[in-house]
Amino acid sequence: MAARTASVGVDVDSLCHYYRIHGLDESAATNAAWEVGVPRFLDLFAQVGVPATFYCIAEDLETEGNVARVRHLADLGHEVGNHTLHHRYDLSRLGPEEMLDEVSTARAVLEAAAGAPVVGFRAPGYNTSARLISTVFQTGHLYDTSVFPCAPYYLAKAGVLGWMRLRGRESRSILGSPRVLVAPSDPYEMSSSNPHRRGLQGGIQYPVSVAAGVPLIGTAFTALGRGPSLAATQVGLRLRNHLTIEFHAVDLLGLDDDSLDPALGMQPDLKVSVEKKYVIFKAVLDMVARHARVERLDTLVRERGAMT
Ligand SMILES: [Zn+2]
Repeated sequence: MAARTASVGVDVDSLCHYYRIHGLDESAATNAAWEVGVPRFLDLFAQVGVPATFYCIAEDLETEGNVARVRHLADLGHEVGNHTLHHRYDLSRLGPEEMLDEVSTARAVLEAAAGAPVVGFRAPGYNTSARLISTVFQTGHLYDTSVFPCAPYYLAKAGVLGWMRLRGRESRSILGSPRVLVAPSDPYEMSSSNPHRRGLQGGIQYPVSVAAGVPLIGTAFTALGRGPSLAATQVGLRLRNHLTIEFHAVDLLGLDDDSLDPALGMQPDLKVSVEKKYVIFKAVLDMVARHARVERLDTLVRERGAMT
């Protein structure tokens, strides 16, 4: 069955979180993800004519102007989703009280800023667990979109973390369960004991889409270029009921374009020009919008609820 629906998400991770991933001093981090990256995505989505979901970190709203930026997204018709309070990469391993605080306080902060209900959740680093999922659904969320069943991503992360350990550097990131690799690719009702399996009453999961072995995410589109990105997206449109496409706000930043700290060159996609990335992303989204109905995930979840 061809994809009937698609959704587009943007994780708005401030630059400080990238410094933390790479174990670098974060005092040089700027607010460019919010000030520059988000407006470029808003322009892209307006050009293509699609709504999106911006998964926001509540802590980032302490930076001046970011509360107004969240409200602006919502006023333009985009969804605001929960990307936790502090973007702790070890969220799935925290104790119950700390975990609850990360999920539920963030939701309250983001709802106040957006002036709209926040019902979608994405975990930092795509690491989830049965306990985290149950916390997410107990705190008023209607869907989760943290599962990323992508072997190349998982193996690359395992490799980077191992390499950093060898060099005596500590990353804040964790690898997570390999069970993610056998998770379903289309949206599914999760088992309450294992979020990577189908089941009953565990809540609805929208896994990040992978097609022809290619994750449908901004960094992969940048690495592959326009042709292969379109080819993978086309496979996804043929094979999946729904495509969950994912970007990060920094995907539309450039080291040179935006005079970023050269230390951030550890993220290779930041070395690619913004114009080049914009052209690739627009081609992918134009193709998706031609073949599927692109909706906010909160809209699709409510439609699904109304049908059952
Ligand atoms: Zn993130």
